This record gives sequence, structure tokens and C-alpha cells, in this order.
Amino acid sequence: LPLTNWEAVRSQFPILGDLMYLDNAATSFAPEPVLAAMDQFERTYRANVGRGVHRLTRIASQKYWHAHEIVADFINGTAGTTVFVKNTTEAVTTIARGLDWKTGDCVVTTILEHHSNLLPWRALEKYGVTVRVVGLKPDLTLDMDALRDAMDDSVRLVAVTQASNVTGTVVPVAEIAKLCKKHGSLLAVDAAQSVPHMPVDVVALGADFVSFSGHKMCGPTGTGVLWMKNPILEPLFVGGGMVEQVGEDSFTLTEGFHRYEAGTPNIAGGIGLGAAAVFLKDIGMQNIEARERELTNRLIEKLSAVPGVKLYVPADPKQRIGVVSFTIPGISPHEAAAYLDDEAGIMVRSGMHCAEPLMRYLECPEGTIRASIAFYNTESEIDTLAATIQEIAG
Ligand code: PMP
Repeated sequence: LPLTNWEAVRSQFPILGDLMYLDNAATSFAPEPVLAAMDQFERTYRANVGRGVHRLTRIASQKYWHAHEIVADFINGTAGTTVFVKNTTEAVTTIARGLDWKTGDCVVTTILEHHSNLLPWRALEKYGVTVRVVGLKPDLTLDMDALRDAMDDSVRLVAVTQASNVTGTVVPVAEIAKLCKKHGSLLAVDAAQSVPHMPVDVVALGADFVSFSGHKMCGPTGTGVLWMKNPILEPLFVGGGMVEQVGEDSFTLTEGFHRYEAGTPNIAGGIGLGAAAVFLKDIGMQNIEARERELTNRLIEKLSAVPGVKLYVPADPKQRIGVVSFTIPGISPHEAAAYLDDEAGIMVRSGMHCAEPLMRYLECPEGTIRASIAFYNTESEIDTLAATIQEIAG
């Protein structure tokens, strides 16, 4: 860890300057190599991919294909089943719509889920699918006993986040994978908050599907990934670029990721996402995890010392990521967040965090204030945030 020069890493993000940005769970910033990769596409070889034979299309296709290989390698997957989508929401929806559900099928999920990993499953209820929601233990970790109780052979799929965007809770996915195997259930992991912040190996996880967003891992907005162990899903979209042949009254689909990427994709975005994966890999996900843990522990320690502030985080540093939710008595989360920006120039998120059932469960009717940390944040930002919270609470 001390080998990484975090100041130099931060200087790679042109937007940062003096900005105090602690809303990284919503979206992160893009470093120079990501911006350069997108710029180079636009300026020097912009063309459609997988179509035609001219020079530019060959360069663009090769770079776009290579981005799939890089991103697949980043999570220990294979390129053919690593599909580029628009965001996590589209990835989860592709899974939910891509399986042939039968009345009586059950989906098990958790109270931690972001709406994007809840509503696509809830939307299946009209086909006779039931959704079971597992709760938390008082320490805000997942209640694994309740999960075990929820499992039976009607459970077709378990949909679980690997890390919560509200409490930062890390869920023991590999353990859940074993339960899934026992009951013949598929496992779909929402890795939107884990892939950017810790090493994720999709094979070791034992998942069938893993979804995440490029824009939360220093990649472009409008990019996301759906990795699947086996290409068992019906594609969500059909059209150009994903067919083997189209006859008078029939068609056959191509193999590989193309099957799930109908139409002209976000080519600059996909190539930028590849550059983001290279950037993170070069720093090292273990280094990133350790750096963010250091900053997170510092923030939690400081906020814990402020009278009245209520934190919603697991106590064990190993069971949480750098997402720190809290409330301050007598001031609404939005008011506090506005004060933080207006008076101290610190940007945090406030409100429900697209997780309303969790907010009700935590008895936070107005939501929480949420500071979310990236490796490019600094000790001084953490200290300024804590001091300003002290001011608000005092
Ligand atoms: N799941 C989790 C855990 C998230 O944090 C988010 C983004 N806040 C999403 C899903 C949805 O991601 P996107 O908006 O990129 O689809």
C-alpha cells in the first residue's frame, strides 16, 4: 500500500482539482487514460463495429472486442460471455426478462437491494413468480439464517448485492452460492458497488450472473456489464449485429457477447470502460480496497465521536465498503447535504438512495446522508467533512 502514490493517482483525474467529492457510489470520475481512449476513438477511428471490412471499422471492432477481453479479465471471466450494456439496471433487467419463468417460481432477494435489483424481480410477480425478501441482523449484516430458511427447491434464482450502496454491508456471496447449488437455484449478483472497490473474481464467487456499472468504476456513463457463466438468457433486444442469418420467416442468433448487444453499441463508452479496467488493475484492486478502508475507518471513527450522529454501518471493517450513511437529529438529510456543499464545498448524497424498503427497515423516513469514498479521496477531505458535521450537529 505505501508504494502507491495516491497524490499522483489523484492528479490523473482532471475534474478533481480542489473538488471535495464524496458521492462516488452514485458515480465516479474518469481519469486521463479513459478520456484519452474515448477521444482517440472519436478523433481517429470512429466507425461502426462488427460491420463491413474497411480500415476504420476493423480498428474500431478490434478495440471494442479487446475492451471486452480486458473487462472479462478484470473479473476473471471470458470475453464471450461478458456483455456490455448501458448500466446495472439494464444488466439485471436482461437477466429477469431472459429466463422463462413459471408460476410458482420463487426469487429470493434481500432488504439491502437497490431498486434496480428489486423492481426487475417484482415485475415478474404478474407471471406468478413470488419474491421473498431476507432481512438483516442488528449489526446490519445479512441474516444468513433467514436466508437459509428462505431457500427451498422452488427458488429459481437468488438476487443479491455484493455490497450495499446504503450501509456499505458486504454480503458473503460465495457462501450464498453454496446454498444455491444445494437447491438448484441460479445466483445473480449485483456487483455495482463491489467491482469498483474490491477484487472480484466471478468464478470464485460461484455466481451465474454478475452485473455492474462502468460509470461507478471510473469508466464512462452509459456503460455497464453483464457477465454470465453460461449464455442461457433470451436476449432482451433483437435486431442488427446479433444474427447468424435471417431467412424469410426465421432467424438464428450469433454466439458470444454479440448475441446480447443488438444494434450499434456505445462504442466509445465500451472502449473507455476497457481503459478504466486497465487503470484500476494497474493500481491494483487490493491497494484500492486497502486505501479506501483506511479512509472509511477514519471517517467512521470521527463521525462516531460526534454526539447525536447516528451511523448505519457494520462495525467490522472487513464487512463494509466505503459507503457511510448517517443521520443528524433535528436536520433533514437534504438540508445537511445542502449545508455541506454551500458552506464547506463538500458533495455528498442525501435521501433514499434508490432503496426505499431499506430506508423503512432502518426507520429513516427521510433517508440518510451518505458519504461514499473513492481511492482518490484524501484524509483532509474526510477531516473537513467530519468537522462540518460536528458544526451542524453542535
Ligand atoms: N445496484 C447498486 C448496489 C447500486 O449502487 C446502483 C447505483 N446506485 C445500481 C444498482 C444501479 O446502477 P445504474 O444506475 O448504473 O443502473
